Amino acid sequence: MSQKSSQPLPSYLNPDNPGPWVVFLEQVDRVTPYLGDLTEWVETLKQPERTLIVNLPVKMDDGRIEHFEAYRVQHDLSCGPGKGGVRFHQDVTLSETMALSAWMSIKTAVVGLPYGGAKGSVRIDPRNYSATEMERVTRRYTEEISPIIGTKEDIPGPDINATGQTMAWMMDSYSKKVGEHTPGIVTGKPIPLGGSLGRVESTGRGVFIIASEAARDANISLEGARVCVQGFGNVGGIAGRLLHEAGASVIAVQDHTGTIYNADGLDVPAVLEQVRKTGGVAGAANCETIASDDFWSLECDILIPAALASQINVNNAQKVQAKVIVEGANGPTTPEADDILKEKGIRVVPDVLANAGGVTVSYFEWVQNLANYYWSEEEVNERLGIIMRDAYARLSATAEEHQVSLRTAAFIAACTRILEAAKLRGG
Ligand code: NAD
Repeated sequence: MSQKSSQPLPSYLNPDNPGPWVVFLEQVDRVTPYLGDLTEWVETLKQPERTLIVNLPVKMDDGRIEHFEAYRVQHDLSCGPGKGGVRFHQDVTLSETMALSAWMSIKTAVVGLPYGGAKGSVRIDPRNYSATEMERVTRRYTEEISPIIGTKEDIPGPDINATGQTMAWMMDSYSKKVGEHTPGIVTGKPIPLGGSLGRVESTGRGVFIIASEAARDANISLEGARVCVQGFGNVGGIAGRLLHEAGASVIAVQDHTGTIYNADGLDVPAVLEQVRKTGGVAGAANCETIASDDFWSLECDILIPAALASQINVNNAQKVQAKVIVEGANGPTTPEADDILKEKGIRVVPDVLANAGGVTVSYFEWVQNLANYYWSEEEVNERLGIIMRDAYARLSATAEEHQVSLRTAAFIAACTRILEAAKLRGG
């Protein structure tokens, strides 16, 4: 992979295989011409502020010791403490963790949260370990990264293969270490430990809020709007349900079990019940099954990819007939597909804004923990709406000003915010 950025790669990355970090560097290079006087600070973004590599020796159930490599990367802390999930996966790399931490800097800056970006990873395949082994791995990881995390330094949350239980173990380990109850050290906790009401629904609710805003700007009335959703899990299922409740007609849903379609609108509560009972949408009543490729060419007003990355790509972008795309998943549109959609005049609301409802309510969870005062679910949802709508309006204005896509506008706005803070703090 070539390295086009003017900044040399961090010496700890393999120059022959630098990984996803290079993608982030190229994204920064692309928006640098829009940064004005802040350009002299742009190199700040091109090296993580702090990179920690730890080795976790953990006793297995049979008494053996196994070692796991793990990371915590704080990309930039100019705007506040680091925020970002911890993932447990056998394929994690330092480069990926660095890139994910940087994208958290962008996401928190896009919505205007007082955070920087961070990310953690543990290289482990959780399928091969018992719950007690995973608990020991999690606690050891928490101890090893504890020198750099803190309620005012860096606040982890859950990512792939991490649950509320994982966060409970992290919170417990950290609290014992510092000798005081510290719920604000992580977010995504179960409610009895200081989790926030509304957190589970927050990403899907954010997608719904953004879809409503984008529909309005595209002169689409939500009442009767035709919606297609890929992925009917936490994000897609909640967004689909809220759109249905707002009067939209969800005409197609695709998940790993199949693609269902009804031109008059699916019975969304029944489809959700089917997912709850069977794990997928296949077999839902009052709909037909269509070929998975045909999902992308359905004529609709709003398309919500909320499953996996790179789902809209060169093979199907030309066929897309949606007026608006709201990216519930992370990275569902490849850069080549993005160009095609732009040519077709389709408004794409990027992931860094569209799925930022989750990190926004994580922020609310942390605020409630620090204040030790808890809000009602209505209050959480109302404040989420204010922040998401505000961020959407800011990005739309930036896109208009520079005549760029919302995705480019998101990077311009985020890099500007971070570098303004970095500049004010000084070198
Ligand atoms: P989930 O596990 O609850 O649901 C995933 C959905 O994707 C399921 O409906 C599954 O059937 C579907 N799916 C899996 N493989 C598929 C395939 N090959 N084709 C079509 N559908 C497939 O996950 P989620 O929490 O809803 O997350 C969905 C996406 O949103 C992911 O990209 C995730 O990174 C992103 N995201 C989630 C959150 C959050 O708070 N949950 C926050 C930000 C971003």
